[in-house]
Amino acid sequence: MLPEKKRKEFFQALLEKNKAYEGVFFVGVKTTGIFCRPTCTARKPKIENCEFFTNAQEALLASFRPCKRCHPLSHPSLVSPLVQKLVDAVEKNPEKHWKESDFRKISVDESTARRQFKKRFGMTFVAYARARRMGLAMKQIREGEPVIDAQLASGYESSSGFRDAFSRIMGTPPSKSENQGVLQACWIDTPLGPMLIIADEKGLYLLEFVDRRGLEREIERLRKKTKLPILPGKPAPSQQIEAELQQYFSGKIVTFKTPLHLLGSPFQKRVWEELQKIPKGETRSYSAIAKTMGKPSAFRAVARANGSNQLAIIIPCHRVINSNGDLAGYAGGIHRKEWLLDHEKKSTKT
Ligand SMILES: [Zn+2]
Repeated sequence: MLPEKKRKEFFQALLEKNKAYEGVFFVGVKTTGIFCRPTCTARKPKIENCEFFTNAQEALLASFRPCKRCHPLSHPSLVSPLVQKLVDAVEKNPEKHWKESDFRKISVDESTARRQFKKRFGMTFVAYARARRMGLAMKQIREGEPVIDAQLASGYESSSGFRDAFSRIMGTPPSKSENQGVLQACWIDTPLGPMLIIADEKGLYLLEFVDRRGLEREIERLRKKTKLPILPGKPAPSQQIEAELQQYFSGKIVTFKTPLHLLGSPFQKRVWEELQKIPKGETRSYSAIAKTMGKPSAFRAVARANGSNQLAIIIPCHRVINSNGDLAGYAGGIHRKEWLLDHEKKSTKT
């Protein structure tokens, strides 16, 4: 969330169609679901209907679609026909899960597409399509609307394909006769981008960056394991972790106390326990963790358990690196791993 002062500044720039702000922000208009560049010639919205974003991916994740008049994704210069073709293809079918073979179907060479897209938007085409798709699915979660099951059950129709996008990822909501529990999902903003929290009244199941690769599969696994559907909502554990994360991101040294549900094999759980023992701002290698567990040859299994962690930051898989000092991978993006480690080092010093 931007501070009020920044919002006012951006809104003023929007009214003036100030060219100096091109690329500085995008504006999402809540009443239309569209996002624009500052200089768009369309009628200007009221400030209370504006959401400002500093990059296009955030706007997509927040479920806005690109404006057809100002083409916010074509900035700063004309977009190539290939990139435009791909953007259009996504808009035709925004819930689609794009695979390599789909590029061939629309006569696009995948490696060229990847290169051009990355150059233009700083993200791959697949990441773009995922941001658009997740944005659709997350719309209600982000807005925190308490009751959507009635809407969904009555066959909520939308040209944006919201219903399909939501149910495909979050599961079909329970009918009233089924007296079972539900998981509740909510959206929070952090300095590293939006995160998704899934919890029930007793504890936390999932905390991930919304644009994390593989998030849809993770959510699906969670639904299968718990056999519970997911609805928008923020139960007590979600509120608690949100408050704790605020402290964490502000640089305070935090011991996370939010209760957790750990769904994993005994081995995975042991790895996750070990991870939680790594002090903030420090790192360990996969093989060091394996040794601590008395299984020095199991470092690959440790790496896998590390990768299947669903509670980003709390179970600090970002503190595990290669034994040669390389950062190794991070599903939330290597820039985040770097940022988190750096942030923790600074936090520890104060
Ligand atoms: Zn526009």
